[in-house]
Amino acid sequence: MRITSKTDAHQRGVDQNSNLPANPQIVRAHAGREPGDTATELLPRTGTERLYDRVLWVWAHGIAYTPPNSRYNARTGRKAGKSYAENQNAQSPAKNRCEGMAQNGGIEINIVSFGGGSNSASMIIGMYERKIPIDLILFADTGGEQPHTYEFIKTFDEWLSVRGLPTITTVFYTDKNGGRLTLEEESLRSGTLPSIAYGYKKCSLKHKIGPQEKFCNNQPSCRAAWTAGERINKFIGYDAGETRRVQHSADKDEADKKYRHIYPLYEWGWNREKCVQVIEQAGLPRPGKSSCFFCPSMKKKEIQALWENYPDLFQRAVDIERAAADTLITVKGLGRNWSWEEYQKTFLETAAYKKENVFVLPGFEESTGGCLCGAPCGCYDG
Ligand code: SF4
Repeated sequence: MRITSKTDAHQRGVDQNSNLPANPQIVRAHAGREPGDTATELLPRTGTERLYDRVLWVWAHGIAYTPPNSRYNARTGRKAGKSYAENQNAQSPAKNRCEGMAQNGGIEINIVSFGGGSNSASMIIGMYERKIPIDLILFADTGGEQPHTYEFIKTFDEWLSVRGLPTITTVFYTDKNGGRLTLEEESLRSGTLPSIAYGYKKCSLKHKIGPQEKFCNNQPSCRAAWTAGERINKFIGYDAGETRRVQHSADKDEADKKYRHIYPLYEWGWNREKCVQVIEQAGLPRPGKSSCFFCPSMKKKEIQALWENYPDLFQRAVDIERAAADTLITVKGLGRNWSWEEYQKTFLETAAYKKENVFVLPGFEESTGGCLCGAPCGCYDG
């Protein structure tokens, strides 16, 4: 294929000068697609073609996929937790949207926001099983994920590749000189904790949302969709137990001119347990918790697991805390009103004290029955 003009290149999603795909990851996951197909072989599908795919799917499986959005809920009175089957006959703006796009010959792009954990992995598996096309899987790497997450991403990438799905595109934050800046480096340089410790989500907006948006802003296919007045579908892995997060996002989603946020897990009624089950059934290992290893939102047992499994990473988290120590006023450390370093110290001292002070009172060594602790409390537990 030879690209002859800028318009041609723009429409085909390839670079005019090199004649190579502008984004090799912008590939389609349609039935029949073979692994190894490239973006140049699989040109963007129009709304008509996509609608045709969906009609075939509905014909074959007897269910309709109708991406949810907040307007859908508001207009139909549809309640959270209802299945697609229960809403099949409801008036669906999403369905109208597809038909409208088909009439207009619009472009539809489906992007998955992948976080490296169970939710987004199971969402992709669910989309694959339902033949929901995936154009791009974006993973924003803060540089601070734990090793098991990077391991899982490698394994999951192979799983995707074998099935002809787009592999994971990793994006990250870059500074004004274009160099990569991890959240850890940024925290150490500025002598501050990740902003979530102070109650702001700037760390995630800057290192996760921002790089994904920047990447899409530079994709010809995304720009073409926006120019045509379309919004891009962004699939987000909020599960069925995250009603508040979905509701909280509704107003923002409504106002977003560029993206239509879709929450398939929530719509399918998949909770965390189900997500893990789906991953295991797909032959994949459990991804484990995904977050920065120094995330101030980590629970105490997760922090403990960190120092037990990855002592070097725990030490690096403590280094962030120490670097920020002089600037902290109300916040005391990565635990917000307590420091991780102090917590570990206290925990280990208490554990050592307990170990040293375990003894059996004379006279009770031979004690049988009664309370398991051997004490003469006289309680009766059956
Ligand atoms: S995982 Fe925690 S520290 Fe990392 S970006 Fe998200 S909120 Fe911030």
